[in-house]
Amino acid sequence: MPLFASPGAGRLAEILAGVERWLLPAACLLCREPVPAREGDRLICDLCRLRWQAVPHPLCDRCGQPSSRGLECRLCAGWPPGLSRARSAVWLEGSARDAVHQLKYEGWSRAAEAMAESMKGLEPLTGQVCLIPIPLGRRRQRVRGYNQSERIASALAGRIGRPVRTDLLQRVRETRTQTALTPEARHANVAAAFGAAPASGLELVLVDDVFTTGATLAAAAAALVDAGAARVEAVTFARAVIDL
Ligand SMILES: [Zn+2]
Ligand SMILES: [Zn+2]
Repeated sequence: MPLFASPGAGRLAEILAGVERWLLPAACLLCREPVPAREGDRLICDLCRLRWQAVPHPLCDRCGQPSSRGLECRLCAGWPPGLSRARSAVWLEGSARDAVHQLKYEGWSRAAEAMAESMKGLEPLTGQVCLIPIPLGRRRQRVRGYNQSERIASALAGRIGRPVRTDLLQRVRETRTQTALTPEARHANVAAAFGAAPASGLELVLVDDVFTTGATLAAAAAALVDAGAARVEAVTFARAVIDL
């Protein structure tokens, strides 16, 4: 008999909810202030979310980097074809950086909910798109226990009513961590890192936590376009502040 079919099921669900509440921190993950009861079991309070700095317009049409109109963008000029547009919700600084850290390294996968909330209005998330989380290498996923991009994609899917597809894009080669690499070296590091299943005619939006130089997103998009995708765009929660 299924666990929840018994007459005591409601009571059991109540107990489980109570246990989860007890396991959750009583305070906001970022500012450590108590989360008001009206915000339910949120991990990140509204005040912290409001402090995140949106990436200011005008933006480069393609990569979404703030730019002066009329000047050639120095960030995406060297991108391979494939990724047609990328947009990020907030700058990677202050408590937005803390939120990414909590999601990636502290095991708070539900921090993805607050991130998705700030991303749901990004331009690529319109029309009949499927969401594609950037896959992690197998080793990294084993260590972390989950893929942070997949958590963000599912949280977004619930908000915009579009499906997540994890069957289309695979990482076929483990890559070195990108942190210490120059933009050129990043493109070389991730080239041919991804493989894609047939994606004929699909409109796809890649989902990732952080946009740094766009190298990973561009490589993933190139693989999907090779596999027949009609259009590949990308959204990330945060965007790293980089000197160009
Ligand atoms: Zn807070
Ligand atoms: Zn650009």
